[in-house]
Amino acid sequence: MSGIERVDVAIIGGGMAGMSIAAELAELDSRLAERSEREPLRLTVLEREHQFGYHTTGRSVAALLESYGSPEVRALTRASRVILDAMGAESGTPLLRTRPLVWIAREDQLGLLNALLTGNPAVRGVDPAGARTLCPALRPEAIARAAVERTAQDVDVDGLLELYRTRAAAAGVRLRTAIGLESGEWTGDGWRLTTDRGELFAGRVVNAAGAWADAVARRLEVAPAGLTPLRRTVAVVGAPGVLPSWPLVLDVGDAFYFRPERGGLLVSPADETPSPPVDAAAAPADVELALERVRAATTLDLRTVRTSWAGLRTFAPDRNPVVGPDPRQEGFFWFAGQGGAGIQAAPALARLAAARLLGEEYEVPGLDPGSLSSGGRGQPAPA
Ligand SMILES: Cc1cc2nc3c(=O)[nH]c(=O)nc-3n(C[C@H](O)[C@H](O)[C@H](O)COP(=O)(O)OP(=O)(O)OC[C@H]3O[C@@H](n4cnc5c(N)ncnc54)[C@H](O)[C@@H]3O)c2cc1C
Repeated sequence: MSGIERVDVAIIGGGMAGMSIAAELAELDSRLAERSEREPLRLTVLEREHQFGYHTTGRSVAALLESYGSPEVRALTRASRVILDAMGAESGTPLLRTRPLVWIAREDQLGLLNALLTGNPAVRGVDPAGARTLCPALRPEAIARAAVERTAQDVDVDGLLELYRTRAAAAGVRLRTAIGLESGEWTGDGWRLTTDRGELFAGRVVNAAGAWADAVARRLEVAPAGLTPLRRTVAVVGAPGVLPSWPLVLDVGDAFYFRPERGGLLVSPADETPSPPVDAAAAPADVELALERVRAATTLDLRTVRTSWAGLRTFAPDRNPVVGPDPRQEGFFWFAGQGGAGIQAAPALARLAAARLLGEEYEVPGLDPGSLSSGGRGQPAPA
């Protein structure tokens, strides 16, 4: 196999998942290598597109919500918040900006709101008047009760991805775009990988391919993790009277959300339409649905749709990230299924994944380390 480029770890995918694990892995490995006086690992990121973050990472609505998602996602988000604050302080450019979150519930959704408030210290219940103080455009008749997370945040997603890219590059990771993994064969001590730009030998593969993660597993003849990409649509609409300081408003039944965006209103029908892994695009019917639902909940005069887009949020059956070594295939590490939280949970997830890959401990307060599966159709990660 002489003449073929050799790396110790090839990370497939250059979105938030791939770039964050590249930076954390390289930095952790370099500390361990120095301590044990060995050579650091050679790492590379392979991204099929011409730019990093082109797919789901570039299409998020950039929120950090501690009351969102499963208990595992919430624990990862709380831990990530601390890291994001520190990263922003260190780089001199804050990555977070406070924007409160208001969960709204109609009379028939009070059970859902109560479930959200139970055991969720990030939120507190308020009456409709309290919700309307934050967002005066809410129709009084559309809310029976609400819950507010005052310390929710907007995340600078481009800034975060760029920080991880810079850190990975500084730590010696070879970052490549316009190179797609086509297939691979396990040789017993590593992978002989075929890309659309030639061959590569990698001791281990990290599957951070987002919506394509199961497809990447199949290309390497590894059993898929049962991941489903779900399309989500967003539009930005002209809407007179919107103030930039308004909160993010989320329907507790997950039927829509909205928040101010560049002088207009960002709206989503919170759709979850199963999709093959593709370059997702907004369907006009989904944009219309968002407008209809936001009109029903507010007094806003929603006018011209300025822009719209869609992205794929990819979920494992338990809706938690899939993080760890595949239980059946040596040299194959999962880092997928980030779903709707792959920005807000990225910093802690990347540290956890990097530690797992190098056999180190990393504790996330409130997270049972065995609760995240590592492929093999939902099996818990090896301890
Ligand atoms: C509308 C919307 C709103 C969202 N809002 C939020 C939010 O407010 N907060 C939050 O935390 N999260 C949010 N998310 C979710 C978040 O964006 C994702 O969880 C996260 O971006 C996933 O990152 P990723 O790196 O796994 O995937 P991606 O960014 O899609 O990266 C995967 C990469 O793998 C590459 N790839 C695939 N196959 C190959 C191959 N064979 N060879 C080489 N490269 C390959 C792809 O080209 C792609 O660039 C939202 C998502 C959407 C769509």
